Amino acid sequence: MFKAWLRFSGLILVFVCSVQVYAQRPRCATGSVMEQFFQMRPAERIEFEKRQQSFQRRFEIARRLKQEGVQQRVQSIITIPVVVHIVMDNPNLVTDEQVQSQLDALNADYAGENLDAVNVPAAFASVFGKSQIRFCLAQRTPGGTATNGIIRKTSLTTSTPGSNDPIKRNVTGGADGWDVSKYLNIWVCKMTDNNDLGYTFMPGLSGISESDIGLVTAYHAFGTMGTATAPFNKGRTATHEIGHFFNLWHIWGDNQCVASCSDSDFVDDTPNQSTCTYGTPSFPTTDICTNNAPGIMFMNFMDYVNDGAMYMFTQGQVERMELALATLDDRKSLLTSNGCEPPVLYNNDARLNSVSPNNSIIYCSGSVQPSVSITNLGTQPLTSIRLNVSVDGAAPVTSQVNLSLPTLQTVTITAPALNVSPGHHTLKVFTSLPNGVADQQTNNDTLTTLFSALAHLDASVMEGFETNFNGWGVDNNSDIVSYNPTKVTNAAYNGSASIKYNSFNYTLYGRESRLVSPRVNIPADADSVKITFWRAAAQLNSVHSDTLDVLYSVDCGQSFVSVYKRSGIALNTNNIITSSEYIPASDHWIADTIDITQQIAGLHPDVIVTFRMINGYGNNIYLDDVNIYSVRLPNALKEKGLTISPNPTSGIINIRHYPTTSGLQGITVYSSTGQLVFKEQYNGGFQAPNFTQVNLWNQASGIYIVRLVYADRVVTRKILKMN
Ligand SMILES: [Zn+2]
Repeated sequence: MFKAWLRFSGLILVFVCSVQVYAQRPRCATGSVMEQFFQMRPAERIEFEKRQQSFQRRFEIARRLKQEGVQQRVQSIITIPVVVHIVMDNPNLVTDEQVQSQLDALNADYAGENLDAVNVPAAFASVFGKSQIRFCLAQRTPGGTATNGIIRKTSLTTSTPGSNDPIKRNVTGGADGWDVSKYLNIWVCKMTDNNDLGYTFMPGLSGISESDIGLVTAYHAFGTMGTATAPFNKGRTATHEIGHFFNLWHIWGDNQCVASCSDSDFVDDTPNQSTCTYGTPSFPTTDICTNNAPGIMFMNFMDYVNDGAMYMFTQGQVERMELALATLDDRKSLLTSNGCEPPVLYNNDARLNSVSPNNSIIYCSGSVQPSVSITNLGTQPLTSIRLNVSVDGAAPVTSQVNLSLPTLQTVTITAPALNVSPGHHTLKVFTSLPNGVADQQTNNDTLTTLFSALAHLDASVMEGFETNFNGWGVDNNSDIVSYNPTKVTNAAYNGSASIKYNSFNYTLYGRESRLVSPRVNIPADADSVKITFWRAAAQLNSVHSDTLDVLYSVDCGQSFVSVYKRSGIALNTNNIITSSEYIPASDHWIADTIDITQQIAGLHPDVIVTFRMINGYGNNIYLDDVNIYSVRLPNALKEKGLTISPNPTSGIINIRHYPTTSGLQGITVYSSTGQLVFKEQYNGGFQAPNFTQVNLWNQASGIYIVRLVYADRVVTRKILKMN
């Protein structure tokens, strides 16, 4: 049912799910994962609604033009490349034939050629929809090699619906999706909650990680044979979820099965329907919103009935999906994907797979030695290749490499080392002349990466990030550049710039990002080594928080030791909890000091300090004025173990011990007339501080007696105060 657009308000878009007691389990978790996503990103809900409203305006115009005979939607058959990731303890349970049965069901359902469409009641026949959307199993990988579009992975990992589903990530035992701009990823697996059948995310979520795009289907609700189990064994879980993927709402509107006649699926040829429908209803079925025959359209793919009881999209739904595919930024690239075309094989075709360093740091060397991975895609054995390496756009340095690489085999090659200065650099690598002849496919020969080379400096190092902080490094765990710590000029403790960790706009939980200091030489006679910095941070909400971890390395970045870790309230600098993007005011900054003297005692090393941010769906964190420095104590203090200075003094007396105040029980200061002007007692195992300051500003000029009482001795000094 299509209702006044005014009702498309934020209220309607809340997928109420937590308070509802379901008569039966919902067959899809799409509503609840969307709501969960918005609760973590309130600003994203507003943006999503804006995009939906803009889409709806286009949709209504297209519907009207169509009624006037002007076609706006997809005109010819569009085939979407699908890659199926079967991640299970026994992935072979889901056979290739079962995967094909799912593809067959999708193609029949989307073409309106499903055999059970004969059951569509005559009253709905006039709105029965046949789309131009079809599906193929991918014929080529993102890298251009041949595939059958089916990936199997043996793993105990199960799917937990949400924006950080482990099933979609190699690192959590799942399987990384393929390039979402070219493929529709489907994960087939066991669900953590065995009652779940599947879910997806609708289009228009700019804050979503690409890793989360695609759909998940329970292995017992996938395809029409094998592990597919009645009543969910006609492949309709995928049919339904792909409907959401192409921007369809549930037919009753999207408050989750809460009875209401005022919400909408924003399609004008579906009857108004109060709530979701389960099982196998008999026709006609009416409800409080549509109380006359033919009643509600429970047989629609976007309801919750059993697979055997759903068999149609409407024309409005089809047009809506095709418009989404044709126009939405996060779907339309599928139109031009070549994933359904088998790769063309050439005689001589080398592919560059990856280059290292990639978004990483060269800690101690003054040179970069790229490591490159190459696959022979040619039909001929690859016997030689030319590597061309260029730093910062300079003329490439070439080297000839002899190989013996059979077709489709991969090898890692190390290029000659190139000198680099400290700073941020661009590395471009390309291959040429496989087997001494022109490469027949040149679009897979070149890769460009970023890396930083650390400077080597003497302490102290003070960095305010006002310029481009050359000599520092950024490392975001080798992929997503948008989470790199970056210089910003809209916040600063000092000057006009600081470093920002963009946690607000970054959703991948647990992702790390590092800002790394130059190598700082600590002099052999340093008595203490300290790190100070200023930070400003707010919390997104009371649940989600990022973590700032400060670490040091004394072995050229091979290992790091944590000396500071804060998150939540302890990281927050002004008790601010805001769902808006955080930009600190000038009084939000707090200084931290970390003393690493004990940790590096005796090593006299080069120290590298890392500011590591661990993303937890929090808000932005800012750093400024980082100082890494060493302190040398006066020789007199080190030789005698005690200094009381200055003498004479104009008011302040500094009492310093070295290396400890062991046995010190008290400090007293008397005037020459015997009047007590300062007293400090240290009892009960409490060790006195190494540094004590006595203030005589308000005392008269003259001689003062400083008396230090230790367990085994008493030290007395005369100090002259002069005005
Ligand atoms: Zn659904």
